[in-house]
Parts: sequence; C-alpha cells; structure tokens
Amino acid sequence: MSIIHVSNIKKSFGNIEVLKNISFEVNKQEVVAVIGPSGSGKSTMLRSLINLERVDNGDIRINGDYLVKNGKYSNSQDVKKITRNMGMVFQHFNLFPNLTVIENLEIAPKVVAGKGITDVHNKSMELLEKIGLTDKKDVYPSKLSGGQKQRVAIARALMMEPEILLFDEPTSALDPELTGEVLKVIKLLAEERMTMIIVTHEMEFAKEVANKIIFMDNGYILENGSTEQLFDNPQLDRTKAFLNKQY
Ligand code: ADP
Ligand code: MG
Repeated sequence: MSIIHVSNIKKSFGNIEVLKNISFEVNKQEVVAVIGPSGSGKSTMLRSLINLERVDNGDIRINGDYLVKNGKYSNSQDVKKITRNMGMVFQHFNLFPNLTVIENLEIAPKVVAGKGITDVHNKSMELLEKIGLTDKKDVYPSKLSGGQKQRVAIARALMMEPEILLFDEPTSALDPELTGEVLKVIKLLAEERMTMIIVTHEMEFAKEVANKIIFMDNGYILENGSTEQLFDNPQLDRTKAFLNKQY
C-alpha cells in the first residue's frame, strides 16, 4: 500500500488557486523528486503534506490515516500524530541560532513526549557521525558553512525517526561547491531505503537518486512517472521544454 496518498487536493491563497487538482501516491521506500518551474506550487504541495499549509479540498492520507478527507481535517490530536511520521528539511536550514549543533538535534525529541526514543544522546552522536560533523557538535550554527548547516538540519529531522523525509530545495541556498556534501547525505539515506520526497532543481541528482519524478507546472501535476520514463521519454511538449532548459 502507498504510504502517501494524495487525491484531488486544491489550495488557494486569496483568489489565486495554486494547487489545482493534485493527485499522486508514494510507496514505502520510494524516492520521489518533484521538479518544475518556480511558482508552480511545489513548496505549497510539500508543506500541505506536513500541515504547514492547509488545503481547501481533497484527501491526504499518510499510512492509511486521513490528515484531511474531502477538505475536512482530522482533529488536532490526530493531525499531530499523523504529521509526526514526517520530517522536513527546508531551503534555509531553519536551525535554532541560539543552540549548539547537538542542542539543535536534541531539543525536539526531548520536548516532544511519547516518541519513545530511549537514548536521545546516543542517537544524536550516531547521527553526527553519519553526517560527518562530530567535531562540530558544540559550535553554534553561525560558525558552520551552508553545507554543514544543511547536514545538521537533515540530522535534526532524523532525530524524530520519521518514516518519511520531505526536502524543499535543500541545496538551492548553497554555493555550488557545497551542494555535493548535502546530496551525498541524501543519497546515503536513499541507499538505506528512506522514503523521501525531494523538491529539487538538481536534475542530475534527481536522475541518480529518484525512482519517480513528478513534474509540476502552474498548480498541476503535468507528468508523473518513473525516472527513466520522464527523463528519457517525456510525453508532453511542456515537460520537454522544461527539461531542455535545465541542461
Ligand atoms: P514553488 O515552490 O513551485 O516555487 P510555491 O508553492 O512556493 O511554488 O508557490 C506557488 C504560488 O503560490 C506562487 O504563485 C506563490 O506566489 C503563491 N504563494 C505561495 N505561498 C503563498 C502565501 N503564503 N501567500 C500567498 N501566495 C503564496
Ligand atoms: Mg518552492
């Protein structure tokens, strides 16, 4: 069964409809890349999954549970429970500037009860090693490069042991020479079969790491298919034009 099931969601800001009728599914352990021009609704779609935006219509089901059904949201307790299955990594890292690296990692699992993470400190040390930043554990984010900040943001999201990770242009704010170290961590997670949705402009990376591609344009999903199919045999002229511009 699909772990994420979105059907016919719509979302307007004022009288501008930015998600027009979005449906897609993500299976467990799939890596889905979302591509498309700026302003096409990629961030709004991603944020809707984790309840940072509220849709007006449609269904979002996570692990079979309805976050929203026919535009009606589950009660706040259930919404919390459902969205706790997901972690999100943002373009601009959003680390707490007044906390050290390790404090950034440990704050959420310490504050949020009921997650059953027995040893927060072991977990944070393990993740710091995984992202290669053990030696930076006691420094403040301002002392880190953008690439290091983003690796910390990924580790912080992993502290809550999410089943699904959402990335919104994780390398767009980075100098080109720093994107590689972040993509390497995401690739590692893909090898570990983490379920991920990644909004990205890095087409080569999408090709390499994603099983499935969603192409969004102007509030619609115009094309949605396997990575090979979408890159090697796009069906629509609009998709072809977008891909041609990216290379
Ligand atoms: P993308 O991530 O593909 O660039 P977004 O989801 O950020 O697209 O935006 C889609 C559209 O919705 C854009 O026209 C954007 O200006 C608009 N939009 C996004 N967030 C808001 C908001 N909070 N209020 C009003 N309009 C918004
Ligand atoms: Mg965006």
